[in-house]
Amino acid sequence: MNRTFTMIKPDAVENGHIGAILEKINAAGFSIAAMKLTKLSKSDAEKFYEIHSERPFYRELVNYMSSGPIVAAILEKDNAVNNFRTLIGSTNPAEAAEGTIRKLFATSISANAIHGSDSDENANLEGEFFFSLDERF
Ligand code: UDP
Ligand code: MG
Repeated sequence: MNRTFTMIKPDAVENGHIGAILEKINAAGFSIAAMKLTKLSKSDAEKFYEIHSERPFYRELVNYMSSGPIVAAILEKDNAVNNFRTLIGSTNPAEAAEGTIRKLFATSISANAIHGSDSDENANLEGEFFFSLDERF
């Protein structure tokens, strides 16, 4: 079994999609190893997206990700990182495949409903960013 890290982003929380998104995650065979409803401060969001700090969308992304509550979670499944990226779909919801979480629930390329880690290494770092050892099962 492998793990990935996800956030249900502020737009999807605000639009009432937490339940529907968790249902899709469960139906795809992921189990939940950690989960919380929380909110990123501006400096949390800056740190989390540090890797994108030189990109033109960084400031907008930080403002957006700290604009309201999110659901953070660690998910478990075989080949978790890749399977989860497939489940969420392309970054831009206009290009996301039918049935993917972003196709169903995202509102724009920035407010795109959900995060999924891009590697095992980042999944681990991102999970540790949000959860202490005794919050991970
Ligand atoms: N993003 C954006 N504009 C872009 C590309 C990305 O606002 O042109 C935001 C979007 O919320 C995305 C996040 O920055 O999910 C991180 O970008 P990345 O390229 O890592 O996409 P992801 O891995 O989330 O699909
Ligand atoms: Mg990414």
